[in-house]
Amino acid sequence: MTKRVLVLGGGITGLTAALRAAESGLEVELFEATRRTGGMGGSMNERGFVLDHGIHGLYSARKETQPLVREMVERFGSDFLTIQKKTSIHFRGRYLKYPMGMKELFRALPLLTSARCVLDFVRTRVRGRLKDIGVAESFEHWVSDRFGHSLYEIYFGPYVEKVWGLPGTRMSSAWLARRISQISIATVVRRALKAIFTRRPPDEMHSLQPQTFLYPRLGSGQFVDRVRDGAVAAGAVLHEGWRVRGLRHDGARWSVELDTPEGPQTKTADAIVNSLPLPVLISLLGETVPPAVREAASGLRFRAMTIVNLFLERERIYGDQWVYYSSPDLPFNRINEFTNLAPGYSPPGRTALNCEITCFTGDATWTSSDEALAERCIASLERLRLIRREEVSGHSVARLPNAYPIFDVGCETRLDTVLRYLRQQPELHTAGRQGRFEYINMDECIWHATEAIAAIRSRASRVDEGARA
Ligand SMILES: Cc1cc2nc3c(=O)[nH]c(=O)nc-3n(C[C@H](O)[C@H](O)[C@H](O)COP(=O)(O)OP(=O)(O)OC[C@H]3O[C@@H](n4cnc5c(N)ncnc54)[C@H](O)[C@@H]3O)c2cc1C
Repeated sequence: MTKRVLVLGGGITGLTAALRAAESGLEVELFEATRRTGGMGGSMNERGFVLDHGIHGLYSARKETQPLVREMVERFGSDFLTIQKKTSIHFRGRYLKYPMGMKELFRALPLLTSARCVLDFVRTRVRGRLKDIGVAESFEHWVSDRFGHSLYEIYFGPYVEKVWGLPGTRMSSAWLARRISQISIATVVRRALKAIFTRRPPDEMHSLQPQTFLYPRLGSGQFVDRVRDGAVAAGAVLHEGWRVRGLRHDGARWSVELDTPEGPQTKTADAIVNSLPLPVLISLLGETVPPAVREAASGLRFRAMTIVNLFLERERIYGDQWVYYSSPDLPFNRINEFTNLAPGYSPPGRTALNCEITCFTGDATWTSSDEALAERCIASLERLRLIRREEVSGHSVARLPNAYPIFDVGCETRLDTVLRYLRQQPELHTAGRQGRFEYINMDECIWHATEAIAAIRSRASRVDEGARA
């Protein structure tokens, strides 16, 4: 029995699902609302510049994804470059190496403040040894319990609030457990303190992000386009400009209602792979979803992002590929300069800055005109003495409504409610950054999609065996 699969969304998750499904003999169609597949992994290359939605290097953030990334690179990565990471952070008016070691942090602070942080840190560690610090619910508690409140106030708190738009007291510690536990900041702090006192260079900072990453020569869109071409070559049918607007199960099969350029259409299938944001998926399922699940889903929110590209008549601005800005007085929290990835990412003698500004959909930043956003960035960059406005020859703006899932306090319970409900639905698989509400990169999206198709296939073969028996 051939199974028919419909894939919702055409980012790297949806495209990988379409590729895997077609290659394993399943009939598959994919629906992407915009006119071009690729999602956040696609490129917006303009005027001879490679421009992505923020730097999109490919690497494995966890062991499980290593073979998949290797396979994808072997198949679709003939043009990948290996890039040595160069990053820094602008902190209290100074540019410091990033990831920032505590040694640099203390050097950037006045002596008394550094001393207060060290004392606070040591006191916190001693207290932690003497009594169980328990499970911290909020980001603020989690950091303060481990590194002391001074470091939280000075460094961690303001940056998190700027990026996520919520105070650390409202951010959950759960995402930290996933992102930071593997980094072991405590170890880093301990080593940095040792380095300061023994005057020996600190050991390399533990990081989830390796020091090298792979980058397609023409931008990350080149990679996702190749995955797309692979899916089409294997027999997947992709529809661009087709928006999913409803989803239901009649007890035997799924129906997907679509707005297409030729008008409304309905497609049916045995299985669905979703990569749309979880709250969207729940609203597509409509009134059949219990109110408690709908309420839980509506509490899963995303941080949006506007990306302002400034085209400059200058060879380069930074030596780094990206620079973090922690000051709340500056609109951007990170600026990427693709020129510094490798030669060829910008036309000769010119560069572009790719400024990431996080916001909420509908707020003053999100609804600002492109000109107003560009002006905010230019004025701030002038204030930092990085550029002169006469050097700016143009700009463009991209808007990402669902850049980061927001892990506020209580979101784990809401997420659990939604995922538990979805697991009860027959052959409905949800995958990817927004489809799982996880702060993950492309490697894990590829993994999710691969697992979803494997689950559909294994059920299909069980059904086949049952029919033959
Ligand atoms: C600033 C930034 C930097 C990043 N840096 C990296 C990095 O260095 N390395 C890395 O690996 N990852 C990085 N990521 C993460 C990476 O972008 C994501 O993990 C990945 O692109 C998510 O892919 P996806 O397919 O799950 O979602 P998306 O790419 O968002 O795809 C979902 C698709 O669904 C479509 N859609 C939405 N609604 C509908 C509808 N109703 N009907 C049909 N289609 C619909 C959307 O148009 C979109 O194309 C970064 C992300 C951001 C925001």
